[in-house]
Amino acid sequence: MMKLSCADMGKPECHFVAEGETAEDVKMKLMDHVREMHPDALEGTSEDEMMKMMDEKMM
Ligand SMILES: [Zn+2]
Repeated sequence: MMKLSCADMGKPECHFVAEGETAEDVKMKLMDHVREMHPDALEGTSEDEMMKMMDEKMM
């Protein structure tokens, strides 16, 4: 089981944690959450860049 929290991605006020069997699962879940709850985080950062940052945080 892998997981990555929104706080890890620079949103300490958010308590969302994405969990999944694979890194891909976790990234998809967190990306859906970011699109819905933190659209501002995607201004100036592409989804590709966001995915890359998630990879780095998960290692
Ligand atoms: Zn969040």
